[in-house]
Amino acid sequence: MKKSVLKKYARLIAEVGGNVQKGQDVVIFANVNQELLVNYVMEECYKLGARIVTVEWSSDLTAKTTYKKAKVNDLAEIPEWRIAKEKYRNTRLPVFIFIDSDDPDGLKGVNQKKIAQVSRKVYPIMKPLRDERDNKYQWTIAGASSPAWAKKVFQDLPKRKAVEKLWEAILYTSRCNEDPIKAWKEHNDTLAKHSKALNDLNLDYLEYKSSNGTDFKVWLNEKVIWEAGGETTLGSNIYFNPNIPTEECFTSPIKGKAEGIVFSTKPLSYNGQLIENFSIRFKDGKAVEVHAEKNEALLKEMIAMDENACYLGEVALVPFTSPINQTGILFYNTLYDENAACHLALGAGFTNLVKDYEKYTNDELHAMGVNDSSIHVDFMIGSKDLSIVGTTRDGKKVQIFKDGVWAI
Ligand code: ZN
Repeated sequence: MKKSVLKKYARLIAEVGGNVQKGQDVVIFANVNQELLVNYVMEECYKLGARIVTVEWSSDLTAKTTYKKAKVNDLAEIPEWRIAKEKYRNTRLPVFIFIDSDDPDGLKGVNQKKIAQVSRKVYPIMKPLRDERDNKYQWTIAGASSPAWAKKVFQDLPKRKAVEKLWEAILYTSRCNEDPIKAWKEHNDTLAKHSKALNDLNLDYLEYKSSNGTDFKVWLNEKVIWEAGGETTLGSNIYFNPNIPTEECFTSPIKGKAEGIVFSTKPLSYNGQLIENFSIRFKDGKAVEVHAEKNEALLKEMIAMDENACYLGEVALVPFTSPINQTGILFYNTLYDENAACHLALGAGFTNLVKDYEKYTNDELHAMGVNDSSIHVDFMIGSKDLSIVGTTRDGKKVQIFKDGVWAI
């Protein structure tokens, strides 16, 4: 990859993704295989006036060994210093930049139940600490090509060629082939237009139909808005882009009101494994029946992760013609794959999409029908002939999607 292009990407991550402000702290989370990009991102953060930029490194190999060798209780132990670190961050509110280049198969061979047990124990301790800074800080996640990930995506290519191809796809879908800063300004404007149109319609429910068998109805929450593109922090009012790339308009549906069946249109990569050709049937908002040609047991385990993992947390609309889908690549990474097509997510909803959410406690927000769970897993249901018809709260039918793309 040309250094000049990589620097352009680093600038996009720091300036548009995190929108680092003068005097702010930054924490970059990255895999050890990304030293060069991380250094460029760091340089861009300092150029923007960052006070101090620190890096938390991870690695596929050591993560796997840790999960294999350490015991559940020891893995789930949160010593005082880790709590102190979270509390310190809650006062400093650093910008979090996640560079994702992990091997999608990184945890293959690790007992899935063990991973689930650990996160079930850690979640209740870490959740309130994270809730404290929720919506008050900027964060962004962007991908980076690595040998293990690239070989997974381009299995037939030699390693070097695969890495190059994945970089090309990442930079293309992140709009780095043009002036990324200008392109993202326009892109954010277009996304905002669509989410405004959806909000103005004041929709009661959506009906999905597709020739693959999808026949599904989901009710929306009157108190919850649609959002797209960037977000604005509470208090400091800084606009940032949490996902690079992003193509979706999304909302949290009302918990307990979804009926019918959806068929997946792309494999779901979950905990390092692929769940393929699956369907999920909903009754009273709950996933009551699942089938999968591959890894059905894992899908069942996923929806049984906790008591609300079987309810929906997200409904997202993405045209079938999105740049990600145009590459024709399965990235084995949600950041990209979720932006390829319309999707749903099981698990946690977005409390920050409730109108005036800052006036309520988290419990109050969940009581309004926004699902709460330790998981949030997106899966694709968008197809070339997907039709979505919305019904407004005053009973009008509006075609939202036709043949897989926007109709409004
Ligand atoms: Zn989404």
